[in-house]
Amino acid sequence: MSLGSAVLDAIETKKFGGELPEPNIREVVEGYTRGEVHDYQMASLLMAIFIQGMSYEETLALTRAMAESGKTYSFPECVDKHSTGGVGDKVSLTALPIVAACGAPVAKLSGRGLGTTGGTIDKLESIPGFSCDLSEEQFSNQVDEIGLAIVEAGDLAPADKEIYALRDTTGTVDSLPLIGSSIVSKKAATGAGHLLYDVKRGSGAFMKTTEEARKLADLLVRLSEDLGIDATALITDMDNPLGSAIGNALEVRESVLLLKNEPVPDDLTDEVRHVATRLLELKGIKDPEEAVEDALSSGAAYEKFKAFVSAQGGDADALEDLPVSAEVSEVESPRAGYVARFGASGIGRAALALGAGRAHKSDTIDPGSGIEILVKPGDSLQKGQPIARLYGEREAERVGRLILEALDISDEPVEPPPAILDSR
Ligand code: URA
Repeated sequence: MSLGSAVLDAIETKKFGGELPEPNIREVVEGYTRGEVHDYQMASLLMAIFIQGMSYEETLALTRAMAESGKTYSFPECVDKHSTGGVGDKVSLTALPIVAACGAPVAKLSGRGLGTTGGTIDKLESIPGFSCDLSEEQFSNQVDEIGLAIVEAGDLAPADKEIYALRDTTGTVDSLPLIGSSIVSKKAATGAGHLLYDVKRGSGAFMKTTEEARKLADLLVRLSEDLGIDATALITDMDNPLGSAIGNALEVRESVLLLKNEPVPDDLTDEVRHVATRLLELKGIKDPEEAVEDALSSGAAYEKFKAFVSAQGGDADALEDLPVSAEVSEVESPRAGYVARFGASGIGRAALALGAGRAHKSDTIDPGSGIEILVKPGDSLQKGQPIARLYGEREAERVGRLILEALDISDEPVEPPPAILDSR
């Protein structure tokens, strides 16, 4: 059968809710990656999948075909984590040096931020001199020597890159099998043997409810296990930003405080310690909670982070005082009460407007811009009390409005939400 007929066959089958055979899925994915399947045909197939869904077997076949569509790595001894994306999410910057200091090596391929979701590569590049551009040999040697290396994901799973871009313009992003196969194909191509998924739930996340997040978490773990990866998942809160810093250099600064065992908001410490502990469990390291505590209190985690930064060309001496925007202003509370919610989605949009993120892939970011939130859910508030500190001068008026809209004030005392909502 010609490729054209195979694609039409797949569309016809899926249109009526039929099951696509594995060879058919692979043929279409490979053909699309080579540029031999038209966008309009692929878009039609994606919409049929969006409407009719996919069985687990089809989803696994799609994941495997996308994972094998380009270069693959193999780091079976390594641990890795993947976050579905959030506002102020600096868990990779902190939990990974901790586990590396505890003897669990990390070879991470990471991405840049888009929209309100930040990217680990952008955050690291706010450190003067830091580069994520390592050859494969340098990457692998650094994992052996330091136990932690992070590079840009680049051309990993090229089929997913093409299909994701098409989904973005055809209203087919929010489909569970398409999201699951997209995420796991990249992780499978990365090749870490032990993987933790941090599935965010809430206003600042892809998954708005805990139920949706659970379904995605279960799918991610099942697909990963069937592709030979030892996997687990957490559902974590993203109704509120994590910690207090949002923005690239600001987030690295907050991460440095955490790694030095200095005070940061409880939601951040709780989540980072939990993720690090679960990663050590996956790797089979004994007494993981104690190991995490020791790595932080002895300074070993921060030393590991500095060694990693220096190895990738960064100025480790600059970490204590990374440059941030000199344009600083504060937003004040309009009334007294208690913080019920400081909405992650609104804060994320405000940080984006200040220049901390990209609305479009081609936008440049201002690494020193962003927001420090000064109050967390449960805190009591006085009228006129500063609630957020803004770094940067772009769109200052609109940013102030977004921050105020994001703040829900209650007259009654509020119990802060737990950072970890569920484990799978
Ligand atoms: N993240 C991904 O990598 N893929 C999706 O489809 C959604 C979120």
